[in-house]
Amino acid sequence: MDCEVAVVGGGIGGLTVAALLAERGVDVCLLERESRVGGCAANFEKFDYSFEQGYGLYASWQPNEIHARVFSELPVEPPETRFLEPSYIVRLPDQSEVALISNTEKFEENLRSVFPECSAEAVEFYRRLVEVGAALRRTFQHTPDILTSSEAQQANTLLREDRISAEIIGAPQQTTADRLQAVSQRFRGFVDVQLQALAQAPSSVVGYLPAALALTAPLEGMFAIRGGAGALADRLAESITQSGGRVRLDAPVLRLAYDSAGQARGLDLLSGETLTASRAIISNLTVWDTYGKLIGLNRTPSVIRQQLKTLHSWGAYLLYLAMDEDAAERIGSDHILALTEWSGEGQYDPERQHLMFAAAPAWDSRAPLGKRAVTVHAFTEVDDWFTFHTDETELEAKDQTMLEQCWQRLHSAIPELGSSIEVIDTATPRTFYDLTRRRLGMVGSVAPALPGSQSLPGYVTSLPNVFLISDTTSPGGLASLTQAALVLANHLTNR
Ligand SMILES: Cc1cc2nc3c(=O)[nH]c(=O)nc-3n(C[C@H](O)[C@H](O)[C@H](O)COP(=O)(O)OP(=O)(O)OC[C@H]3O[C@@H](n4cnc5c(N)ncnc54)[C@H](O)[C@@H]3O)c2cc1C
Repeated sequence: MDCEVAVVGGGIGGLTVAALLAERGVDVCLLERESRVGGCAANFEKFDYSFEQGYGLYASWQPNEIHARVFSELPVEPPETRFLEPSYIVRLPDQSEVALISNTEKFEENLRSVFPECSAEAVEFYRRLVEVGAALRRTFQHTPDILTSSEAQQANTLLREDRISAEIIGAPQQTTADRLQAVSQRFRGFVDVQLQALAQAPSSVVGYLPAALALTAPLEGMFAIRGGAGALADRLAESITQSGGRVRLDAPVLRLAYDSAGQARGLDLLSGETLTASRAIISNLTVWDTYGKLIGLNRTPSVIRQQLKTLHSWGAYLLYLAMDEDAAERIGSDHILALTEWSGEGQYDPERQHLMFAAAPAWDSRAPLGKRAVTVHAFTEVDDWFTFHTDETELEAKDQTMLEQCWQRLHSAIPELGSSIEVIDTATPRTFYDLTRRRLGMVGSVAPALPGSQSLPGYVTSLPNVFLISDTTSPGGLASLTQAALVLANHLTNR
């Protein structure tokens, strides 16, 4: 079977680029190994509950933002989204809290009362961040690939933003921590727990520009999607077929197929079939799996092999919980990001300090009457889940220990829950590996750096007709993945 562009993987990244290409007249075939699309964004269903595998917090669904931009091209309607106010609450170890809301005056008042020891500096940090974030968002509308373009191109483009372009142009070299010198450790903990959630790394690692986008998204306003991110995946798949593209489920890809000159010409499927792609092959696999499985490590340049060894992303441990509706009313926000311990002078430790509580909204409870589906997320090192055990019993014991620790931390952070919540199931990095085949079940974007992120777009691989669309090469979250998909679709259709 032939096509112009073959896409390996039906996560949000693969689906978005395939939907755009199909609507622009390209003959696209998307291959997904599972019996449904969505990857990390697909929901987990059990006992009449439908759980999101993530936080259920989606940025950039406002008119004129990236999702509206993409759906304006597609033949299907976007899923229903609703504005969340607050986007979430950050709860600190002393039970004080800051609500991330769009009302600047109230937000700054909240900052001043929770961080009296550095109130002026904390407010100033956010004011600068908001200006830089807004300038970047304006720039995305005419130059979607600004963050990955060369410094010279950035300088040219940002001349339009002359009031703060000097600050932006100088910023790529700076981490967020460089801008936090004047604040207290408490305020830094407040920033770290958010960056860890939104960009998978703390302020000592995340650059100032990606931080400006990530940290201001909850102030711009975040959204819930009816049916969760799985509904977005289904809508994109529908769009591909309506535009004449093909979506093949239960179609695991083994590797790239090469011709005698060593050019990638298509894909070998596990079924024994070979699919020819005359124009391009797009991998929606992680950066490790794109080289390790599709391209083949023997064809991967040694410099990239070395780089891949230095990259790391986290594993996720999830609790799927059933909560009584009255507990949701007591808590007051569907999303609570808990900093469960102060950092002291040491480094931020996500395994010890971070817990995210995310309840489905009242208008889309994804649960039997009077209940809500809740997902709680903790970070975990993936190696422990793959080397720890010698048999399934040890793995189950580790799962049980982790569950007990998270359960206790959850009740300390959110005592209002009381006995109104019960465990339905858990997910570990092994579960994510089984569901998506991501290397060691690692999820989210990578640290310390993305390959080629200084000057080359994230979609470039070592082969001229093979491209990458993955959250491991974009800063984190579906909005930036969608942005990256648009950039790749534009590149392949010369826009
Ligand atoms: C705990 C957690 C919370 C999150 N919360 C949010 C949130 O609130 N808001 C937000 O915007 N983002 C959130 N995210 C991020 C977001 O969900 C992910 O970044 C995104 O879904 C990843 O999409 P992807 O397309 O890069 O890859 P994936 O979802 O990994 O998709 C890759 C696809 O490729 C398929 N595949 C793999 N191997 C093969 C093969 N050999 N052949 C064919 N197919 C194959 C897989 O089955 C999968 O469907 C969260 C992530 C996590 C882990």
